[in-house]
Amino acid sequence: MLLSKDFTFDSAHFLTEYHGKCEHLHGHTYKLRVTVEGKVQSNGLLIDFGILKKIVKEQILDKYDHRCLNDFFDNPTAENVVMEFWKLLEDLPSLLKAEANDPNLPEEIKRLLKDEGSKDINEEVRLYELSLWETPNSFVTYRGE
Ligand SMILES: [Zn+2]
Repeated sequence: MLLSKDFTFDSAHFLTEYHGKCEHLHGHTYKLRVTVEGKVQSNGLLIDFGILKKIVKEQILDKYDHRCLNDFFDNPTAENVVMEFWKLLEDLPSLLKAEANDPNLPEEIKRLLKDEGSKDINEEVRLYELSLWETPNSFVTYRGE
């Protein structure tokens, strides 16, 4: 099964290897869709939406929201940005494990992370696809290929 969650963030950028409107500094409200793939556990969940939100916030939004992407990328096209985001989320099982071991995580959410009757989190969940919208009509999709 696939499960997706959408996020938005505001960032500025200018394109360095491009001549046209986008070579000048400007901003976008980017939309990021994170899609994961896995089996539904006996608790009826593939992954808790709240945990996915926390991971994407910590790995991506906290770093790039309200920033100029040129501070992080030589040429921040949607293509280059989505490939970097993939690297930040690719090791989803480890990120989930880190969340599960976070002592500040409420017990209720810890229970959701773990398959019933097991001490382990659902490590079968893997990153499947990222889509990044630069405008409502223009987006890229990446599957780590
Ligand atoms: Zn732009």
